[in-house]
Amino acid sequence: MLIWWKNSNISYPNRISLEGILRLGRSEQAAERVLDELNIVDPKDLRLLEEIAYERGALVREKFIEGAEARITIVGSRGIITLSPEISNHRRRFSIAHELGHLEMHSNVSSQSLCTKSDMDDWGTEQVNSNREQEANAFAAALLLPRRFFGPLCNHTDPSLKFVQALSLRFDTSLTATALRYTQFCDEAIAVVFSQNGSVKWFRRSKEFEELGAFIQVRSRLDPDSVAYLVYRGGVTIERKRIDVTAWLAPGNYRENAKIVEQSWSMSAYNAVLTLLWIEDDISDDNYFWSIK
Ligand SMILES: [Zn+2]
Repeated sequence: MLIWWKNSNISYPNRISLEGILRLGRSEQAAERVLDELNIVDPKDLRLLEEIAYERGALVREKFIEGAEARITIVGSRGIITLSPEISNHRRRFSIAHELGHLEMHSNVSSQSLCTKSDMDDWGTEQVNSNREQEANAFAAALLLPRRFFGPLCNHTDPSLKFVQALSLRFDTSLTATALRYTQFCDEAIAVVFSQNGSVKWFRRSKEFEELGAFIQVRSRLDPDSVAYLVYRGGVTIERKRIDVTAWLAPGNYRENAKIVEQSWSMSAYNAVLTLLWIEDDISDDNYFWSIK
């Protein structure tokens, strides 16, 4: 069920200014162009994703594909998107948007893209979407969770996975994709961490989190003091907890006993945990730069 905020009196900007467009990355620009040219002024229209793809020249069909989840075959400005019939609804929507990204951005480079699950899980680094798969993923996120509709909602309440989940229901996107996009628009110092088999696989920070110099070590084992560790080991549910920053953050400019708010949810189908970290208090140590001399 899709729930729209009843008291939502947010005014969505229909278009971003030219100056704003110039600041956006290539994938974001391409998604904005699609929304503008199709005159999508209501986020509910994004539910008609196959119609959007069709309007842009791509026909969606289902057929088993050996070794891949989705494929696009491009001839001129038109394409046929083929999806594996076994994928879930969210995965299906993301795959359509991802393949449409190839048509919008890469039709002059390649006439066929065969996209595996790992291609669609490849988000690149925070600043750089350096290859075509990462660009198509960034396009899919920007199309399904458009900055004009999604951005204004991200600061309505304190950061929490529950809030991210509500946004994901609203936009009919996966929790992970929504959480990733959330870090781009949330004004608080937050990070989203995906850990699998007990190790940190990737993380994404908000601008404010990054400005504090806070960093999480990828490939490190989960700290036994973290909630994520308990969730991973025992499948327990703890709504949120204030814990020592050292359970998550690499050494840096933090006061002794500084705390961070953690919320972790099990994603048992992937043997994974999704974590939201929030630096709620001032944790910096004024003497830090003197002490490292
Ligand atoms: Zn692809």
